[in-house]
Amino acid sequence: SNDVTLLPKLAGVCGWPIHHSLSPVIHNYWLKESGLSGAYIPFVVRPDEAKRAFQSLKQTSISGVNVTLPLKREAFLAADECTPEAKKLGVANCLYKRDGKLIGHNTDLEGFTRPLLKHFDAKRLAHSSVLLVGAGGAAKAVIGALLSLNVPEIRVVNRTDEKAEKLVESLNLPSVVFTPWSDKQNYVVPSDILVNATSAGMAGYPALDISLTGMNKDSLVYDLIYTPRVTPLLKDAQKQGCKTLGGLEMLIAQARPSFRLFFGETASPDSDPSEVLYSALKSGI
Ligand code: NDP
Repeated sequence: SNDVTLLPKLAGVCGWPIHHSLSPVIHNYWLKESGLSGAYIPFVVRPDEAKRAFQSLKQTSISGVNVTLPLKREAFLAADECTPEAKKLGVANCLYKRDGKLIGHNTDLEGFTRPLLKHFDAKRLAHSSVLLVGAGGAAKAVIGALLSLNVPEIRVVNRTDEKAEKLVESLNLPSVVFTPWSDKQNYVVPSDILVNATSAGMAGYPALDISLTGMNKDSLVYDLIYTPRVTPLLKDAQKQGCKTLGGLEMLIAQARPSFRLFFGETASPDSDPSEVLYSALKSGI
């Protein structure tokens, strides 16, 4: 009934574990800034309960949920329909309701692309070579985004060669090339963009074992990691005079489309939760 629409909108994020998630910090910041009545809360959902939890969404007044590890595939499978973005990756990080249906969507492609286009000339992408380090879930989203941007060369390297090889083979596209881990250093200097989609360099992890010496100053180093804000890789890039982009912008950019879907309004582009996120990270959320 119409009365329901007057109630505060409710959304959240599902995962296992979930209490470290920064999504509530971002969404609740935007809710407060936009003066909307609503709440975004963490939901603990065990993998063995995920299917039932997602299917029960339609019977609740929850507008939608984001979904994080390890439930993104389950979310994709539980949806009545999936958007082209979710289909492209075979995983959903966002479930929302439309016309009585549960829709699975993926905002990681947009999350990666928006900051990239802010820091790198879109026209130049059409003749750029990218060195992508990593072959996990994030790397898949990066490849999907780069393909949509018509990047002509994407070199994939990964500590475990077989994983990169399998990923590249499954795509079977001339622009996506497998490169052995032992050869990665040879492709640093010729790259226009280097993307780190591994956990190496995260606080508490060893740094990524790669040197940026000789890389062009107009090249971009895009590290998906956001803790620390400046990773050892980004420090090296700064030392070389290269352009740098950290993972916080992607984290925020992937949340924006979900906010609009859940709460019905666009978060203002001036509403930047970066500092709130850093305080939350410092306080050990
Ligand atoms: P996965 O677990 O799916 O993949 C992890 C990847 O990191 C694998 O390729 C793994 O290689 C590699 N790796 C781990 N440790 C090392 C190391 N010491 N040296 C070299 N490679 C290593 O994780 P995701 O793909 O989901 O996430 C990867 C990173 O991206 C995380 O740090 C995450 O925080 C970040 N991320 C950031 C987002 C953002 O919004 N900013 C969004 C999504 C992810 P191997 O196959 O050999 O194990």
